[in-house]
Amino acid sequence: MKKVEIHPDAVERIKKFTVTDNQLGFGKYVCPAMIVCAYDKGEWQKIELIPYGPLAIDPCAKVLHYGQEIFEGMKVFRHPDDSIHMFRPEMNARRFNVSAKRMAMPAIPEELFLEACDVISAYCKNAVPKRLGESLYLRPFMIATEVGMGIKPAKQFLFVIVASPSGSYFSGDSVKVYIEREDIRCAPGGVGFAKTGANYAASLNSYEKTLKLGCDQTMWLDAHEHKYIEEMSGMNFFAVMDGVLHTPKLTDTILDGVTRRSIMDIARGENIEVVESKLSIDDILKASEEGRCTEAFVCGTAAVIAPIASFLDKDGKTYRVKDPQGKIGMSLREKLVGMQAGREDAPKGWLHKVRNVDI
Ligand SMILES: *Cc1c(COP(=O)(O)O)cnc(C)c1O
Repeated sequence: MKKVEIHPDAVERIKKFTVTDNQLGFGKYVCPAMIVCAYDKGEWQKIELIPYGPLAIDPCAKVLHYGQEIFEGMKVFRHPDDSIHMFRPEMNARRFNVSAKRMAMPAIPEELFLEACDVISAYCKNAVPKRLGESLYLRPFMIATEVGMGIKPAKQFLFVIVASPSGSYFSGDSVKVYIEREDIRCAPGGVGFAKTGANYAASLNSYEKTLKLGCDQTMWLDAHEHKYIEEMSGMNFFAVMDGVLHTPKLTDTILDGVTRRSIMDIARGENIEVVESKLSIDDILKASEEGRCTEAFVCGTAAVIAPIASFLDKDGKTYRVKDPQGKIGMSLREKLVGMQAGREDAPKGWLHKVRNVDI
């Protein structure tokens, strides 16, 4: 295992870093240190903790032209005894490599990924906020740094982690979902299952429409029939119908969310029936009209769970969900947030304690 090189100037800056804002928001603050690790000549070089600052990128770096880029999003929590814990980071490490493979990028050994996350969390421990629902959000990413206009997979990359003390992504209000029936986010055989910037870039045009129509989230349907629910631009989807929790079955056009998996595990533990299947949007809208779809919600690391108030279709018709502060969704949210914060017992292996370092 390669040791992480800690730059003293990064530590000096961390020591002076405090955030007193009680409205942390999401991504508003970043820690003054970051992890960098270059990939060159077929191998990962040393991992370093350096002061946060601009990256020197050649204008001809391939990431700037061809979008060879992947990322992750994960959270680190402060428990009541002040110990610091990462939530299921090995899931992010594994998914990072799934994304890397699809984007013709080198895998990063899981233990190197985890070590880098542990180090930045350990050194930024004073920036891990205390209140329930708050966390240190880690954003690991990898970009193709090789210089050259030729369209071919790069051979040089940079792995980076930045850390942001964050509150909840959502205020807790329920969200309005716009059903996108024209644009598609991705297609079978594409990169939908990879956490890569391309998927987000493809979603932004619809996000503008979504906002203009007074909605908060874009719902994507399958590329072929425009009929089956896939997910939001950055979150997975659940609906409660007749007391059963439904979510679209994973395909290569859906991102395999850690929150989605955790919610299914918690729900099953509470004896809530969970069904993963093809979910047609028309069935959900009909069930909403009939009051059988009692709740629906979106989920992801940043927001955890946000309840859905309504769906807006392209003909301008709004379908309200019966219970916009759904009991099942809200109780699953409370359970998951409680586990992450060390206030409820979590399944074995879900929390990884971060080492203690003196800074
Ligand atoms: C990150 C992401 C999610 C949520 O995944 P989590 O692991 O729960 O954070 C869902 N959909 C897309 C497209 C994403 O990029």
